[in-house]
Amino acid sequence: MQFFNVMMAYAIPLVPRFLVQRISRRYIAGADLTQAVARIRQLNAQGFPVTVDDLGELVITPGHADAMVDEYEQVLQAIDREQLQATISVKPSAVGLLLDAKACGERLEQLLASAAAHATSICLDMEDASCTQAEIDLFGSLAQCHRNVHLAVQAYLRRTHRDMEFLLGLRATMRICKGIYVEQPDHLVDGALSNRTAINPHFLAHVSRCFEAGTFVAVATHDAALIQEVVHLARRTKISATAFEFQMLLGVCEPLRDQLRTMGFTVRIYVPYGKDWYGYSTRRIKENPQIVGHLARALMGY
Ligand SMILES: Cc1cc2nc3c(=O)[nH]c(=O)nc-3n(C[C@H](O)[C@H](O)[C@H](O)COP(=O)(O)OP(=O)(O)OC[C@H]3O[C@@H](n4cnc5c(N)ncnc54)[C@H](O)[C@@H]3O)c2cc1C
Repeated sequence: MQFFNVMMAYAIPLVPRFLVQRISRRYIAGADLTQAVARIRQLNAQGFPVTVDDLGELVITPGHADAMVDEYEQVLQAIDREQLQATISVKPSAVGLLLDAKACGERLEQLLASAAAHATSICLDMEDASCTQAEIDLFGSLAQCHRNVHLAVQAYLRRTHRDMEFLLGLRATMRICKGIYVEQPDHLVDGALSNRTAINPHFLAHVSRCFEAGTFVAVATHDAALIQEVVHLARRTKISATAFEFQMLLGVCEPLRDQLRTMGFTVRIYVPYGKDWYGYSTRRIKENPQIVGHLARALMGY
């Protein structure tokens, strides 16, 4: 079965886009903001706050970066108008980090001011290791004037232990995740390349430091064993359930998500939407072999 799944994953580029779109409804809130708002309303009604990610398109010009800012302005207005329980997540490269760091900072300044006016916050997603220092510098400069900027950090990177010192010094609100990019082995913590569980002690250590520092922390993982360790740590150290939240991707590990909510924890759902739905969907489908079964059934017409 596993061989079949792997073969199907490689066959995704051959699958008609409408079929990928049908399957990806689970992972993507839609191709435009109207569809995204409808999905966010449903999630909020079920008790899940969200963070919204505009997939946009791969940025290659300042014009694309400006268009991304305009789209996020629309999202912020919708959050306010529709009274959604939502924050936004932004990839710095999508607002021009790799083109011109100063202009990227100015775009984010604008968005942070709007987010504050609409009573919400922005988390900067962490991208591949070539961007790590630039994103930490960007965060450091934005955090001087904006309390509503947060930052994702990746537990699979060795350097994160050192970066945490700097970030906790700023009393940063962080999202801890394992990390999604393919990186050079010497950048990674021992064992991370062959076994994602090897990242867990590092992840837990970062969460523990946030607990000790009393800074709010988002625990972004679907790893049930790791989640259990975080719950135990919080209970053992008497950390209130309001001092942290779990975060999960839309459509991933929903039973675990529901269980955590029933236990009284906040679970924020990362809700992607936008024009690049195809690229995002195929990445998610490749990550989840079970979805390949849905793909096969769709291909066979039932
Ligand atoms: C809210 C949120 C924000 C994120 N932001 C960033 C970011 O800014 N930068 C970054 O590099 N990465 C980010 N990530 C991705 C993250 O780094 C991981 O790659 C991803 O979450 C999978 O790792 P895991 O912690 O779930 O653990 P893993 O050990 O990879 O997975 C644990 C188990 O979870 C399940 N699982 C995990 N992913 C999926 C999936 N897609 N479909 C089905 N089951 C799955 C599987 O059962 C797997 O065995 C984010 C993830 C989340 C949830």
